[in-house]
Amino acid sequence: MVTLRGLPLSSPRSRKKNEIKGCVFNIERFAIRDGPGIRTTVFFKGCPLRCLWCSNPESFQPSPQLFYFEHLCQQCYRCVDACPNKATSVNPEGGIEIARNLCKACGKCVEVCPTKARDISGMIMTVDEVMEEVKKDMLFYQNSGGGVTASGGEPTHQPEFLQRLFERCHESAIHTCLDTCGFVKSKVLQKILAYTDLVLYDIKHMDPVQHKKLTGVDNGIILENARMIATQGKPMIVRVPLIPRHNDSEQNIKALAGFMADLKLKKIDLLPYHALGKAKYERLGLEYKLSKLKPHKSKEIEAIKTALESYGLEVGVG
Ligand code: SF4
Ligand code: SF4
Repeated sequence: MVTLRGLPLSSPRSRKKNEIKGCVFNIERFAIRDGPGIRTTVFFKGCPLRCLWCSNPESFQPSPQLFYFEHLCQQCYRCVDACPNKATSVNPEGGIEIARNLCKACGKCVEVCPTKARDISGMIMTVDEVMEEVKKDMLFYQNSGGGVTASGGEPTHQPEFLQRLFERCHESAIHTCLDTCGFVKSKVLQKILAYTDLVLYDIKHMDPVQHKKLTGVDNGIILENARMIATQGKPMIVRVPLIPRHNDSEQNIKALAGFMADLKLKKIDLLPYHALGKAKYERLGLEYKLSKLKPHKSKEIEAIKTALESYGLEVGVG
């Protein structure tokens, strides 16, 4: 995996005028779960949803932000002196305090921290710079039927950057896959679809009220966009993050299967809940609201898979 940890927020090349730039928080090479074959997954920063279980909370905000690893901090307070925005201060009760509302993610404290207790998540990149990473694995794409996946965060919320990236991939005969929550204006999505070979389409809940409770937004536009993509005949795989006691009821599974049958969709991937992203919430000073939730047992996942298969769907897990 190539991560952006330690790289400058913006390289000199990305300061050229009129270049389309985007904010990316990770580029993962040799990804095998984000579409067919061996892929490079580009993680876009910024998302309009706030799914309670999100394992990438650094993707919420559309711009770079500070990670703080408290367990590595030795309280030398160099960061306090280095911060030009008074965002870091000494806590009178011990340790340090970060005023997130004042932090501009300038990275000055990261430069002086001797223990790597600080890092900036997110980097402004040009399409050229992303393509440079992407093209390193051309041979793997060709031999495995792989390509590039745009994920996040929500990639469609940087529409120009995403569209240009996919255009460039197509110019180099690289397969493109869009991993989206679908919460985007149909007009915007249409333009991106012209350069998209496969859509991985997240559906979190079929009920609009429950959907809003779990993600912060209504699912109306999401279901409409799913219908629009299916009507165009664009290859699409539905992906469902399976969250115990939140969206795994018989009623929701039945509604989902009915919706897919209506759209003549066959493939669905279940993504079982895990709490691996929990530590990131602490690094960002955010609250993780599902800390008491236990993952499904494998036999429970198997039962949901069997239920979906009984509707004639091809179900993948993981
Ligand atoms: S990233 Fe910049 S603004 Fe934020 S705490 Fe560090 S030095 Fe201060
Ligand atoms: S510079 Fe690093 S180790 Fe020193 S107080 Fe700040 S975060 Fe902690």
